[in-house]
Amino acid sequence: MSENCTGNCSNCQSNCESRKKESFIEQTNEYNTIKNVIAVISGKGGVGKSTVSSLLAVELNKKGYKVGILDADITGPSIPKAFGINQNAMQHELGILPAESKNGIKIMSINMMLKEHDAPVVWRGPVIAGAVKQFWQDVIWGELDYLIIDCPPGTGDVPLTVFQTVPLDGAIIVTSPQDLVSLIVTKAYNMAKMMNINVLGLVENMSYVKCPDCGKEFSIFGSGTESLAKEIGIDLLAKMPIDLSLSTMVDNGNIENVKENYLEKAVEKAQEIKKV
Ligand code: ADP
Repeated sequence: MSENCTGNCSNCQSNCESRKKESFIEQTNEYNTIKNVIAVISGKGGVGKSTVSSLLAVELNKKGYKVGILDADITGPSIPKAFGINQNAMQHELGILPAESKNGIKIMSINMMLKEHDAPVVWRGPVIAGAVKQFWQDVIWGELDYLIIDCPPGTGDVPLTVFQTVPLDGAIIVTSPQDLVSLIVTKAYNMAKMMNINVLGLVENMSYVKCPDCGKEFSIFGSGTESLAKEIGIDLLAKMPIDLSLSTMVDNGNIENVKENYLEKAVEKAQEIKKV
């Protein structure tokens, strides 16, 4: 501690141990009561992160919880499509109103703010990060048991903004088997740990294909997630197969019709952190 310490770190240059850590956490608006926030992250794109975010929301919703999805994957937003949502977000005098799925999951995505849903979002990182912050602060989510945040892949500006500004209760990392070799999963994990985020576990997607005739499972991309999960000390929550019916449901906007619950353990983990 500096000799002349006044207890006010904001106007002191000293980097002493007692310096209070600056927090960038932002409050959501007064109309929201969001009990638990879970971020879904991945080292790279295309591994099924949005699919896992959607399935997690669907399974929690089936259990009777009030659920929302904040689609923070601004440059590749795919949540509205999976839920068959084509409408635009509505501006209300109190804030922005999210869309609602057939079963009542609240959804906010940049796609719902674009005139043409297939228009690219050609924005720089800080602008994208600003949009995500706005989805947290200005959207009228109302009362939610769980808000699932579908983060963009990697360890860039936007995931960092989510980690810094939203009070997260946990994060789930999604990977595909071949994603492991390049250690990008470990990078995503380390980033979460650096930001003191509670990592709930790992979901391995596209783990295997099941032969429709004999039922035999083929791990076409190899395996190794168990050992990685052990190495970094996190739970392997699920191994999801490549499931054609799942991608068809996503393409048709019917993800809520999914029968198979691949994320049972992830749902249990979410229930363990539950503050209700
Ligand atoms: P990400 O969010 O990581 O970019 P997505 O969830 O958008 O990945 O998935 C990419 C594509 O792969 C989508 O078309 C999705 O329907 C498909 N997909 C994801 N997981 C599976 C799976 N387990 N079986 C079949 N298709 C899948």
